[in-house]
Amino acid sequence: MADKLNPFAIAQRQLDEAAKVLKLDPGTHELLRWPMREFHVRFPVRMDDGTVKVFEGFRVQYNNARGPTKGGIRFHPEETFDTVRALAAWMTWKTAVMDLPLGGGKGGVVCNPKEMSEGELERLSRGYIRALAHYIGPDIDVPAPDVYTNPQIMAWMMDEYEKIVGRSAPGVITGKPLPLGGSAGRGDATARGGVYVVREAAKVLGIELKGATCAIQGYGNAGRFAHKLATEILGMKVVAVSDSKGGIYKAEGLPFDEVVKFKRENGTVVGFPGAEEITNAELLELDVMVLFPAALENQITEGNADRIKAKIVAELANGPTTPEADVILHERGVYVIPDFLCNAGGVTVSYFEQVQNAYNFYWSEEEVHKLLDRKMTAAFHAVHEAAQKYKVHNRLGAYVVAVSRVVEAMRLRGWV
Ligand code: NAD
Repeated sequence: MADKLNPFAIAQRQLDEAAKVLKLDPGTHELLRWPMREFHVRFPVRMDDGTVKVFEGFRVQYNNARGPTKGGIRFHPEETFDTVRALAAWMTWKTAVMDLPLGGGKGGVVCNPKEMSEGELERLSRGYIRALAHYIGPDIDVPAPDVYTNPQIMAWMMDEYEKIVGRSAPGVITGKPLPLGGSAGRGDATARGGVYVVREAAKVLGIELKGATCAIQGYGNAGRFAHKLATEILGMKVVAVSDSKGGIYKAEGLPFDEVVKFKRENGTVVGFPGAEEITNAELLELDVMVLFPAALENQITEGNADRIKAKIVAELANGPTTPEADVILHERGVYVIPDFLCNAGGVTVSYFEQVQNAYNFYWSEEEVHKLLDRKMTAAFHAVHEAAQKYKVHNRLGAYVVAVSRVVEAMRLRGWV
């Protein structure tokens, strides 16, 4: 893979920038540039036609100085070791910026779940856990759902792990269904966390959000709940939303319940009555107070960064802004809330799930919301202050906070 497009090469370059700001010594920097432990497994799965197919899987435990590693498992036909390494590095910075007592990890299996039956998927999920059971655990490494994995898959994986270790161990995995030890409040946690940090950004910028306008790119888990919660919690007017088919705009604001119903019935938001059709490119450049990219990576680039009119860009998606665009937005005074802070609500509630599993006692949704708010607010202000102190853009500010926390833990352990 060309270095420029290799996600792990990008993750290493981002770390290198933070290492420069923090003046890390070469040994510490080198230790952080690579995963500390990684597994490459091959395991057999009996297919429905009676044949055995061998699948390839990965698990990367990037750094565990701050606690057990944590991160999702992806099932994807184009999964590569370097993608998993990059995502594990980003999980390390995400848990650290949120000040969770966890490290970063990630896993993946090369497969196409869209072409597999439910039985094949179950046997694949159990096979992956059998291959790795001795190297994961509630106090070693805790997986979770990611691309093309879901609560049912987490339930099979937990069950397989418990059979192998011979005891109840729900904390081995998060994102479980509620009856098996999942947490209340996980469904909308990512968007909710993003809305809390937008509220804090508006405070430091002296901006009034009530009645102000908002545009959202992407209408999946993250985008849809951002529409609901930006309206409910912040009192904002969501004037534009989009999905892969295109976008809609209505100056008076789009009603959440009706747009969700329309999307459910028609498979897209496009065609919503009374709204104008716009393209995804036009949505990004609307003159709104807050823009939530909540779809794909590389949406704000050097090609359009000088036309972004939003005051706040709140990155619910992973990697929606390229490094070149980051610099342009910063120079133009657009306030970016970087992805691994803005979308960290999901992993934070996953951490709450682990805590509840350990106690075998479960919290109400209100308690989860209150604790999530406290965590997001503290992380936001740590990043904002670091960016001001080092006179860098917010993404680098977030790296500085995260990397210095991991380095401090490594120093206290005597590793560096
Ligand atoms: P999802 O699959 O539920 O939804 C994705 C949405 O993006 C869909 O509405 C789809 O139509 C839309 N989309 C796809 N291509 C598009 C395009 N070209 N232009 C505009 N819209 C397009 O996914 P999600 O869980 O909402 O995740 C969205 C982003 O948020 C991803 O980058 C993901 O990594 C990130 N994220 C999600 C979570 C979470 O808890 N769901 C947590 C952290 C980060």
